[in-house]
Amino acid sequence: AGSLFIVPTPIGNLGDITERALNVLRDCDAIAAEDTRHSGQLLQHLGIRKEMFALHEHNERQRASQVIERLQQGDNIALISDAGTPLISDPGYVLVQQCRAAGVTVTALPGACAFVTALSGAGLPTDRFTFEGFLPAKPQQRRKRLQELVSETRTLVFYESPHRIADTLADMVSEIGADRPLVMARELTKQFETYLSGSIAEVQQRVIEDSNQQRGEIVLILGGAEEQAAEDVNPAAMKTLNLLRKELP
Ligand code: SAM
Repeated sequence: AGSLFIVPTPIGNLGDITERALNVLRDCDAIAAEDTRHSGQLLQHLGIRKEMFALHEHNERQRASQVIERLQQGDNIALISDAGTPLISDPGYVLVQQCRAAGVTVTALPGACAFVTALSGAGLPTDRFTFEGFLPAKPQQRRKRLQELVSETRTLVFYESPHRIADTLADMVSEIGADRPLVMARELTKQFETYLSGSIAEVQQRVIEDSNQQRGEIVLILGGAEEQAAEDVNPAAMKTLNLLRKELP
């Protein structure tokens, strides 16, 4: 039987394709792409001509069984997305899950991924972090999600679209607080790569002042909440303890 290869592609700088990715794309029988027109341009640039078919969030479930059939017949198939690592805020999860369930070999290649790049360049703690992907697009749901995350002590990583960045920063000021450290990583690996860092309010200020900061592709890296001292954790227990202290000699 053949293998499904998960192949990361560059997030901006074409030099970031790996040698192994090139070999897999050259040697496979077909390439499943999120957007065949978009990926066609990349393949053309790489000098690779190959059968391509679309696998995106709207047809993934139905396509998966056809892909598995081909894999079982011996074809090697590569999955790519528009940019970066497939399955990371991109299609592919259903296919990989079904391949594993069917006993088909899945080989995932390491490579470009926007959040790993942003996190490693941002200068905020990396020992523990949580990847939150995109916040909900609807304001009410976005604020609710931020409220749920306000006490998270790990570094928080978000993807954001340029159309929503101003609103999201405003919501972070109101739900998380103006002073929390934030790094906005924009256009990574591209000509206008920029890191803005400071408090949430400071980053917001710079984004409002300079509309160029509301363009391109964005990763937000938000510092986690301060670790609470043990005695702050349970207010009821503290109250009891203080009452007892008063009574004790
Ligand atoms: N699978 C991709 C990956 O591995 O990073 C992510 C796909 S997701 C649909 C697209 C989002 O990734 C963008 O909205 C942005 O938040 C982030 N992104 C992708 N490329 C980027 C870049 N060059 N600079 C900053 N963020 C980027």
